Order: sequence, then structure tokens, then C-alpha cells
Amino acid sequence: MAVDDDGDVLPDRDAAKGFYAKYEPKEVLGRGGCSVVRRCIEKETGQQFAAKIIDLSDSSDEGVHEATIREIDVLRMVAGHPYIIELHDVFESSTFIFLVFELCEHGELFDHLTTVVTLSEKKTKLIMRQLFEALAHVHGKGIAHRDLKPENILLDDNYNIKLTDFGFAKVLQPGETLTELCGTPGYLAPELLRCNMMEGAPGYAHQVDL
Ligand code: ADP
Ligand code: MG
Repeated sequence: MAVDDDGDVLPDRDAAKGFYAKYEPKEVLGRGGCSVVRRCIEKETGQQFAAKIIDLSDSSDEGVHEATIREIDVLRMVAGHPYIIELHDVFESSTFIFLVFELCEHGELFDHLTTVVTLSEKKTKLIMRQLFEALAHVHGKGIAHRDLKPENILLDDNYNIKLTDFGFAKVLQPGETLTELCGTPGYLAPELLRCNMMEGAPGYAHQVDL
């Protein structure tokens, strides 16, 4: 346990303790730049969740904390949609942030597509319809996701989609455009590439998700 010179328990430890008191962490479900996602069980109810554990001390980038706070704000703004991941709980300290999400039993759409190799037109239509409904909701709130890809589309126990990973999402004012280069190489939209590579090209907005 971390203690300061006066023998007091440091507050960041308390935040981590808050998570461990309430949840039992299990196996790793996925990894990102400075996060690990683990299945966990809420001790009181026995219900399963997915905890995204962000290690702030692990990164030299001071922006990780602010970026995570923005991600939480966006998750709260888009909450309450059937095809968008639900944030259940948050624990925050100076070294760790725990985001507790509803668990998507069937993992990433990416892995599902790799497993099944082909999808029927009927199933493709269902997935695309759900994705468009989720995106319409996100865009309706003035938010651009900016990292849409099959790795960030999860499948619940009924194979319904849950759009996740709002780590690059950005709230736009009406008429506002962006120039920032972000997202995942290989999935970048032409509008985003154009404004970063061509002199005088216009900025981009929500269309980068389409
Ligand atoms: P990052 O911002 O680090 O990419 P993500 O939020 O995309 O973090 O999570 C990383 C991976 O963890 C996902 O691609 C997925 O494999 C897994 N994962 C995240 N959230 C859940 C969840 N709610 N249920 C099941 N797996 C999840
Ligand atoms: Mg991701």
C-alpha cells in the first residue's frame, strides 16, 4: 500500500481500492495504447462487466488523463442508446482510471468477421442498420467518433452491436471543422487525409465517420 511521509494512505490507492472492493477482476478481453480491458464481476450482484483500466503512470503523455475525462463526458452524452456501449461505473485516481462498461460477450466484430469469413446479406443488413442508428444518435449530439472500425464495434450476447471506444470522439459546434490527424492508419477517411496532406484543403467534420 502506498503511504506518504505522515503515514497516510495516498488517495490514488483509495480509488483503486474502491474498484477492487466492488469488483473482482478476471481475464483480459482486449488491450489498447495505455489501457487493458478485463472481464470483471460485481461482487454484490454477481453481474459481469468489462473494466477498461487506464494506467496514467505508464504513459509519458500527460494528455491521457484529459483524453479519458473527455471520453467519459462523451460516453455520458451518448448514453441510453441500444447500440451504444453503456458506461456503468467510473473510479478515478491520479495513477489509474477504471471505466466499467456493460460486457459484450461476443467481443469485437473484427474477430467475428475473421471467424465466420462470410456474412449473409441478411446479417450484414442487420449490423449496418444498427451501426447507422448508433451513428445517427452520435452525430445528432454533434459528436464525431473518428475511430470507427470493426475492432471498436462489439457484439452482445444476442449479436447486436454496441459501438464503443469514444477515445478520439470530439464534440463539434455547428459549422465547426477539424484538421487534427487522428484515428487508425488503414481506416482514415479521405477528408481527414486530404486536409493533412494538401495545402489549403478544407477541414473535416462528421463525414469522416461515413
Ligand atoms: P482502446 O481505446 O485502448 O482501443 P477500447 O475501448 O477499444 O480501448 O477497448 C479495447 C478492446 O477491449 C476492444 O477492442 C475489445 O476487444 C475489448 N473490449 C472493450 N470493451 C469491451 C466490452 N465492453 N466488452 C467486451 N470486450 C471489450
Ligand atoms: Mg479501440
